[in-house]
Amino acid sequence: MGMRLANDESEQDGVKRSTEMPSPVEILQALIRFNTTNPPGEEAACIMYIRQLLEDVGIETRTYALDPTRPNLLARIKGSGEAPPLLLYGHVDVVGTGKQAWSRDPFGGDIEGGFVWGRGALDMKGGVAMLVSAFLRAHVHKLPLRGDLILAIVSDEEAGGEYGASFLVDRHADYFAGVKFAIGEFGGFAFHALGKTFYPIMVAEKQLCWLKATIRGDGGHGSMGEPGADCMAQLGNMLQSLSRNKLPIHAAPAARLMIEGMADALPLLPALLLRGLLRPRLGGIVLKLLGEKGGAFAPLLRNTVSATVVRGGEKINVHPSEITVELDGRTLPGVTPQQFMDELRRFAIPDSIGLEVLRHDPCAAAPDMGMFRLLSDVLKEADKEAVPVPLLLPGGTDGRLFAKLGIQTYGFLPMPLPKDMQFTQLIHAADERIPIEAIGFGTDAIYRVLELYGAQP
Ligand SMILES: [Zn+2]
Repeated sequence: MGMRLANDESEQDGVKRSTEMPSPVEILQALIRFNTTNPPGEEAACIMYIRQLLEDVGIETRTYALDPTRPNLLARIKGSGEAPPLLLYGHVDVVGTGKQAWSRDPFGGDIEGGFVWGRGALDMKGGVAMLVSAFLRAHVHKLPLRGDLILAIVSDEEAGGEYGASFLVDRHADYFAGVKFAIGEFGGFAFHALGKTFYPIMVAEKQLCWLKATIRGDGGHGSMGEPGADCMAQLGNMLQSLSRNKLPIHAAPAARLMIEGMADALPLLPALLLRGLLRPRLGGIVLKLLGEKGGAFAPLLRNTVSATVVRGGEKINVHPSEITVELDGRTLPGVTPQQFMDELRRFAIPDSIGLEVLRHDPCAAAPDMGMFRLLSDVLKEADKEAVPVPLLLPGGTDGRLFAKLGIQTYGFLPMPLPKDMQFTQLIHAADERIPIEAIGFGTDAIYRVLELYGAQP
């Protein structure tokens, strides 16, 4: 590192500093040692550590905060303008360790057995270490960029992004003007199945569509037995039909891309089975056939709803005249709240029960796949076994917030993982850890993307 700068006098200082620049692994260890458990987050010290890394090599930064203890960091390296700016973003907050039984200090950042251990190693301080390292390297090596390169390190992803991405998108949208594509979580890790090494790259996520159901009844004194329109009976019926009735299968574009991508790499029979998931009539049967293995596909093929909060009833001797139920709805990309409520009406919730939308984060019905080929090529170059496939994520990330600015996120934090290591089982769990070599692998792959970005129309 820094070799190419050796003859450039103006960069003497940069050369000296670049050799002192910590490695991606050292950056990750440092990040883990800041306890950024959210809530309360308190990401400031961690964010300031990254700011110092950037300023040490002469990169200008700025921070924006809704709450001074929870800042967000922005930095930009100028490109030639041939391509739109490219955004790299990640969050430094982590989920708590609660009563989990850890065999190492979750905030120790220890290296042992070829892994870096700690909360956030995978979600997503490991990814932040890769993104920051690639960004630093692009600056120090004076990598010719076709588009501006923007780095955004945010707070508060794990609790919804109010202090982080949501705040930036609402209040500082101008900083992201012209950005079409972004690299962030969730994806890029190796996923071993059916003899293949898949690398799912997130291109879309399901949308939050939180609803409130209001059940009204006659009320009255408890001693009079059941009233005519009994709230409790309606509640019981609704909860039962919600748990019994699976909503119908729809093949959203992102789910189709994902399943077709996997099927293309598989032998005839499993390929046929997977493609069957996309057929509205057949999908449910195939899911049953796949059993537990198919469990991961189920939420990608339909809208889902979970009743999570029930409020009603004040006194033991009074029938409530109103009960409200909060419903955690998750819809496929592009499904409107009205379409979702219409579907619930048809399958689970009668017209007599009121429905209103509490929150909806819309995103595009179909992902913009314009950068997928490049990411896929970089992965195949780095790992000859790689089968990159688009991923529709059943959960949510900050991607849904940046989508409000028309930005397509790709979840691309490349990590080759051993066969016995399941990414999705270790995030938010005890003994979260990342193989040391995966950190270098991911940094190099992201750097390669920066080299190639904008080269082809
Ligand atoms: Zn995350």
